[in-house]
Amino acid sequence: MMEPILKVSDIKQYLYCPRIIYFTYVLPVEKRATPKMEIGKEEHLKTARLEGRRRLRSYGFEEGKRFFNVYLFSSRLGLEGVLDMYVAVSRGSFPVDFKNTYRPAVNHKYQLLAYTLLLEDHLRQPVRGGFIYLIPSRHTVYIEATPEARLYTKRLMGAIRSLIRREHFPAVSRSRGRCADCEYKNYCGDVG
Ligand code: SF4
Repeated sequence: MMEPILKVSDIKQYLYCPRIIYFTYVLPVEKRATPKMEIGKEEHLKTARLEGRRRLRSYGFEEGKRFFNVYLFSSRLGLEGVLDMYVAVSRGSFPVDFKNTYRPAVNHKYQLLAYTLLLEDHLRQPVRGGFIYLIPSRHTVYIEATPEARLYTKRLMGAIRSLIRREHFPAVSRSRGRCADCEYKNYCGDVG
């Protein structure tokens, strides 16, 4: 069986609940967008529009060029994704992921790191880290791509591939609160 090309969002989803990977690749089902997701999508588009007019100071840069909605693909990593934005400045390039939340969660961090790895392959130059832009507060959080963080991101990709290969149906999410907002809730017979 050929290994599928993973999407950066798979890393976020896997950390949210591994069952989502099962419903995406092993037994694909149609997902139902929740109202919260629809609002998030609109906020995302609005942020991209406004971002073009904003200064780069919130990222700690004076001058630079921004690139929006960039498709990134790496055959080496077997990974693809559409990055919200990256900023190119004299000391390098930095991916930026827009998130409609006040505080980045762990899955947001590893999604950003996956974009960092992809951007490196795309630009063929080292990328030291990137930013999560928090839409409601307009704050940015810098995530450094340390060797440990890179390794863990690759391990997550390995775990996702292993789940798909073994067709393993994971246990229900440990944080049951997540099920309430989950687009796959209808397919999980064992959640309330
Ligand atoms: S409903 Fe809960 S267990 Fe099912 S996929 Fe969603 S988060 Fe996971």
